[in-house]
Amino acid sequence: MSETFYGSDFAALQSFDPDIADVLVGELDRLRGGLQLIASENFSSPEVLTALGSTLSNKYAEGYPGRRYYGGCAEVDKAEELAIERCKTLFDAEHANVQAHSGASANQAVYGAFMQPGDTLLAMSLPHGGHLTHGTRMSFSGKWFNAVHYGVDKDSEDIDYDEVERLAKEHKPKVICAGGSAIPRLIDFEFFRRVADEVGAIFWVDAAHFIGLVAGKAIPSPVPYADVVTFTTHKVLRGPRSGALVCKEEHKTALDRAIFPMMQGGPQMHTIAAKAVNFKECATPEYAAYARQVIDNAKVLAEALGEKGIRPTTGGTDTHLSLHDLQPVLVTGVDAEARCDAAGITLNKNAIPFDPQKPNIASGIRVGTPCVTTQGMGADEMRTVADLIARAITEGDADPEHPVSREIRAQVSDLVARFPAYPR
Ligand SMILES: *Cc1c(COP(=O)(O)O)cnc(C)c1O
Repeated sequence: MSETFYGSDFAALQSFDPDIADVLVGELDRLRGGLQLIASENFSSPEVLTALGSTLSNKYAEGYPGRRYYGGCAEVDKAEELAIERCKTLFDAEHANVQAHSGASANQAVYGAFMQPGDTLLAMSLPHGGHLTHGTRMSFSGKWFNAVHYGVDKDSEDIDYDEVERLAKEHKPKVICAGGSAIPRLIDFEFFRRVADEVGAIFWVDAAHFIGLVAGKAIPSPVPYADVVTFTTHKVLRGPRSGALVCKEEHKTALDRAIFPMMQGGPQMHTIAAKAVNFKECATPEYAAYARQVIDNAKVLAEALGEKGIRPTTGGTDTHLSLHDLQPVLVTGVDAEARCDAAGITLNKNAIPFDPQKPNIASGIRVGTPCVTTQGMGADEMRTVADLIARAITEGDADPEHPVSREIRAQVSDLVARFPAYPR
């Protein structure tokens, strides 16, 4: 070891633990070799990965900068202060807490700060695009709180705003949540704010999916409207796998205490340093151009799939993802996912609103453009991607050795070779 050692030493890992070194190599090959269309994934930068693989992982720093329970925190305090300041500036927020270990942990803090067990939450239902942590029965949020769910309108397939208002007036929730994992359209934050004010509720936006588009100023921000905005940092935002939240000054103490000591122990200082790097990246013109391209690509991909009979719900998208109904082509979500997988295309099956299938079968797929955009692909490539997906779904097979799987995989290979993830 020398002063040039900051954490990552792949050669040392390879010699000590070749099994795990092989996994790292295999995963990088997988990322580079196929098309990554999972809407919640991205390729974070070597700079972010370097901070993640650093000795900051060793430090215990329970508490907040300047108020720690352990000594030796001067250096990690600088990292957290930078992360907080950059986050506040990026989102024009009154307060930021960057310690959440994940999106789910940030959401826990909202419950911890504003709700008691048995209190009522109003949020979007999971099968219509919400999230597990928004009061589903399997989650602590549904076990400990009384969750009431709104869905989408049958015709528009977008949020049923009339239902939101009706349920809010009927149930008088403590907290109203907007946001989810499969919402292709922009959300009317002003509407939610008005309804929350009318019934005296806290307005929480779970921006896990789309915060990266807000950071790039490519879509309107929820920050001026919401009491608190929670988010993940690894989806469109392209940072480390983690979470964070921003809030109004008046909620600062409640939310800081809810993150620590109520929900979490020691913060992951290596991840917080990586979040600081990511927030700095987000403030660049290159990032803003990326965010706009993510949306342009998603629109082209959604439309091109629609032309192949793979119908986008809501008729398209305003964001980085689209949801597609496979019923017109008579394929289930689970079969489509397996056929695409065999063809070198990674995407996920997804329930569509009013899905007649069980969630583990599903009638739809969800596709997102963060990864392919980070790779540098544009509209022309999205048309090619749509052709490849459509062929895999309608003519392909779950067997990777099937001739159609092989043929599409070769075309995928040619395409990604021109836009390598993590170029050498
Ligand atoms: C991804 C996601 C989360 C959870 O994030 P994790 O980091 O996986 O815990 C929470 N809410 C929404 C809406 C999400 O899409």
